Amino acid sequence: METWKQSLKDSILSPEQLADLFPVDAKGLRSVVDRYPMRITPHYLGLIREAGDPIWRQCVPDHRELGDSAGMDDPLGEENLSPVPGLVHRYPDRALLLVSGACAVYCRFCTRKRTVGCGSMALDREGFDAALDYLKGRPEIRDVILSGGDPLLLEDDRLEALLESLCRIPHVEVVRIGTRVPVTLPERITERLCGRLRRFSPLYVNTHFNHPREITPEAAAACDRLVGAGIVLGNQTVLLRGVNDDAAVLADLFRGLLRIRVRPYYLHHMDPARGTVHFRTRIERGLEIMQTLRGALSGMAIPQYVVDLPGGKGKVPLVPEYVESLGEKAVIRAPGGEEVEVDNEIFGGVE
Ligand SMILES: *Cc1c(COP(=O)(O)O)cnc(C)c1O
Ligand code: SF4
Repeated sequence: METWKQSLKDSILSPEQLADLFPVDAKGLRSVVDRYPMRITPHYLGLIREAGDPIWRQCVPDHRELGDSAGMDDPLGEENLSPVPGLVHRYPDRALLLVSGACAVYCRFCTRKRTVGCGSMALDREGFDAALDYLKGRPEIRDVILSGGDPLLLEDDRLEALLESLCRIPHVEVVRIGTRVPVTLPERITERLCGRLRRFSPLYVNTHFNHPREITPEAAAACDRLVGAGIVLGNQTVLLRGVNDDAAVLADLFRGLLRIRVRPYYLHHMDPARGTVHFRTRIERGLEIMQTLRGALSGMAIPQYVVDLPGGKGKVPLVPEYVESLGEKAVIRAPGGEEVEVDNEIFGGVE
């Protein structure tokens, strides 16, 4: 058996197993796990230093998941934007394919936690054929995003077949894979897998690191293998209360990602998914963090802070207020807070 499959088998799947290692109330957490599954890989478990730390919070079930009455089942209105099952088409030139229902670790803050890990969401072969037909009939779609769940939990053969069919559609210029496997199950990124992915250039992989302690030598090596296969790496972080809602933590994270050749792409404001309320921050907090980062670290290390609007209205960047006023003299705020005049007049132009 391949090492990564063995690791999935050796993962922690129940509060009872966790209780052998840490003082947790296994009985109390049973009802949480009956609703929202748990899995913690040996690698990710090894990153926990103590109960309640930022790694723990991301993967260990919490009774507050069941007490959340404010969250929504489908916060992004994805069901309404799904012309065929397993495909979300919200933007004209991009489509999202939910190709896998499983993840290596079930993140407690997951936007799709209502369906992920519950066996019902992923495309089977017939479903995939229907999605493929839809894509073939839409020449405006240039960019297909494989998501889920985690697409890299599919077998190599299956993944290769999916990519093969997508690459045969002439108008599909770019394929992206969204995966947390480099963080949670780095041994999944085998040389064999990378050898197979190499053929599908331009292939983009967006990983999902949320905390500097997730940048381990194993994760770095996994990213190195992907880069070696000609894949362009980006990262999507979720802003999580009690995990990374702190400018110093995020500065460490984003700098660390550049060191392993992963470019920070998005910092996501939490979606109001049911069962995740204890992770939410206010937008003010995210803006304050972005303002602290701007100027303090390399622009390459700074992602866009975005909120995905409810009802499928799309992602929008949230930017601290730098423009004080416009006109012939614009007043712009410097990263340090000072107001600076910028000449904004066009001489001899057509405006
Ligand atoms: C986020 C998202 C995309 C990709 O958006 P980008 O801003 O291009 O990264 C595409 N489709 C759906 C449904 C999405 O949620
Ligand atoms: S890896 Fe992504 S899809 Fe899977 S549980 Fe975590 S956030 Fe959700």
